[in-house]
Amino acid sequence: MKAELAEMQARQAASNIRVLVVDDESRMLTSLEALLKYKNYQVDTALGGKLACQKLESNHYDLVLLDLNMGDFDGYAVMAYMAERGINVTTVVVSGETSFDAVRKALRMGASDYVKKPYSPEELFATIDSTLHKKLLRDERDRYQAHVQKSETLYRYIVDRSPDIVFLLNAEGSFNFSNSQMESVLGYSSDELVGTSFNNLLDGPHRQVEEIFNSAVDHVATEGLHNVELCLKHRADSGDKKYFEVTLFAVHTDIMGVMENMGHENSPSEAPALNAVGESFAGYYGTARDVTERKKSESLIRFQAYHDLLTRLPNRSLFNDRLDLAIAHSRRHNQLLVVMYLDLDRFKSVNDTFGHSVGDLLLQAVVTRLQKCLREGDTLSRFGGDEFVLLLPEIGGTLDAELIAGKIIDALKEPFELEGQEVFVGISIGAALFPEFGGSKDVLIKHADIAMYQAKIQGNNSYALFDHAMGEHLSHSIKLESELHHALENDELRVFYQPQICTKTDSVIGVEALVRWQHPERGLIYPGEFIALAEETKMILDVGEWVMRHAVAEVKGWMDQGLPPLRLAVNFSSLQVEQANLVEKVIDTLAEFDFPPRYFELEITESVMMHDLEGMVKKLQSLADHGIAVAIDDFGTGYSSLNYLHKLPIHTVKLDQSFVRNIQSVDLEVSIVNAICAMAHGLRLNIVAEGVENQEQYDYLKKLECQEVQGYLISKPLPGEALLQFLAARP
Ligand code: C2E
Ligand code: CA
Ligand code: CA
Repeated sequence: MKAELAEMQARQAASNIRVLVVDDESRMLTSLEALLKYKNYQVDTALGGKLACQKLESNHYDLVLLDLNMGDFDGYAVMAYMAERGINVTTVVVSGETSFDAVRKALRMGASDYVKKPYSPEELFATIDSTLHKKLLRDERDRYQAHVQKSETLYRYIVDRSPDIVFLLNAEGSFNFSNSQMESVLGYSSDELVGTSFNNLLDGPHRQVEEIFNSAVDHVATEGLHNVELCLKHRADSGDKKYFEVTLFAVHTDIMGVMENMGHENSPSEAPALNAVGESFAGYYGTARDVTERKKSESLIRFQAYHDLLTRLPNRSLFNDRLDLAIAHSRRHNQLLVVMYLDLDRFKSVNDTFGHSVGDLLLQAVVTRLQKCLREGDTLSRFGGDEFVLLLPEIGGTLDAELIAGKIIDALKEPFELEGQEVFVGISIGAALFPEFGGSKDVLIKHADIAMYQAKIQGNNSYALFDHAMGEHLSHSIKLESELHHALENDELRVFYQPQICTKTDSVIGVEALVRWQHPERGLIYPGEFIALAEETKMILDVGEWVMRHAVAEVKGWMDQGLPPLRLAVNFSSLQVEQANLVEKVIDTLAEFDFPPRYFELEITESVMMHDLEGMVKKLQSLADHGIAVAIDDFGTGYSSLNYLHKLPIHTVKLDQSFVRNIQSVDLEVSIVNAICAMAHGLRLNIVAEGVENQEQYDYLKKLECQEVQGYLISKPLPGEALLQFLAARP
């Protein structure tokens, strides 16, 4: 029964097999054909070598039974023909020729086996069976190899196309493999890295990395690393640093076979410890993402927040910090310090005569000379334009200050050579002494400023030390202060509106409310002249509230008249924002006038945030919960803004005018504009560029996909009536 079944299966298999029998004796052909057909094979015959070649050329066979001795065109010739034409059919030689040489030659030419004439049928079929079986195995192996190769190509493609560097480390932290990104980004080929320690790529020792590799040597499976920022060296070591976010995952036994198979012997370490599931720790799978560009933007933004980019000196913020520290230090040690206010004489005329670029060069050259007059520990900063402020800590007395001032004045007396021109400038210096003439940083700076004006009055290249007689000059601001009180009572304040347009649609989507003071004698006064004073005297609380109420009422009136709704942005001073009831005040005012909260925006500066970040987050969140938007004003001029920005519920950053103004001139500023826009996009914040004055600036900002702009190019701030006319005139 079993034998019958096997017989049936064999016949079934044979029926799929096409055999070509080749012999030059027709008698042999006929008898072999009959024999094979009896076993159910599909049989074809060729009388002689030539005919065999023709048939092989045009038909498909699984097996050739080939006679060797066939006159002119013998079996060797047929095999040579097959080899030449790439005809790949399993061949069994059937021949009376049994010399060792003949057999060897036939096998070497591609025959799979050899049957000696005369043969018994059993002998013949046994040989055919075993040959076909071997062929079957071979085919299967080839198919499998092709499959493996294909999937290996696929995986390599995926790994090499990854935007990140991908690599494998063994348990000791040496490379087993790296993808092609490693070579294109850092210059190391996978082959040269093999066996090299990951540590060798680090710019310096790194505690976390050392720790994990140390424990890894003992095959303690580690947690690996997750998004750790590392500086990795380029092969060329050009000094240009590249930063990466690196992640290392621990990998276990399974993959180790693969790691070893990557053709690189793992050091023959002792049997590794097994974990709970019986897997052993084998090494790391790592990825490294290049974050250099992001780091560069961040550090550029951070640097410019504390420095003047033209001269690379500390700016006002950094100077204020240093002065605070110096004052505290002087108090503790009973020392004197001096603050000097420096202002160049005739700088404006240099600018007007030779142009801004020479003006910029002059400022840089002046700074170089000033720095030569200073001691270590002194801080020179640029407050803007041609104004510098100098901090001299631990000074002996006023005589020392006078000496330094004299040195500075002398240092600038020699002409400057700029672009082939000889340029002369002078300098006026005012100084204030701590603690005698000012106990706080603001007062010290103000007094130094007053003394500087005194020096200007004395004539070019002068120095003046503040004394109380100069305080007279303050009377001006005291007068202003009392008048400002009246301004509120007498309804002398006005709100002007500056339109903000969308760069995509060119339509007005909002307005910023800006306060003005209509003074009965002096005419229209701009906020630059009275806001600081109002803040000092806390009158800004009343002024600010008045502006909000007035603007909300007026803009709501326009909406009621059928004007499409406009977003109203109102400036809030830090004192207002710090008030505990800020949120209620805003919400109550909006409710009182039935003003839709989603059209209201608060503009606050970054510095407000820094005092009480947690409290601010709460307030801003509750404003946001009411649908009210918050914009960061003068963005980029304050603190290193990136760290907290993403934590705050804010909607908009207002790119400061100073950056926009320099779009055509200084390259560095332009890249800050780029960096800020890129960052704002990354954080999905709206950007409003302020102070856009010409088409070049507008086009540049539009190209950067800065959504909104505001500035004289579109319109100056306008009284309500004029704004309505402006809106009506736009398509
Ligand atoms: P800000 O908030 O940065 O307002 C923008 C200032 O830039 C406005 O000056 C505006 O007139 C001016 N400006 C707009 N476009 C251009 C331009 O294309 N070129 C130039 N050169 N300037 C442009 P403004 O109205 O004199 O206000 C000065 C500052 O006073 C404001 O700066 C803001 O900090 C403060 N301020 C104004 N109104 C209020 C207010 O109601 N409350 C508070 N707390 N501060 C206010
Ligand atoms: Ca503003
Ligand atoms: Ca601003």
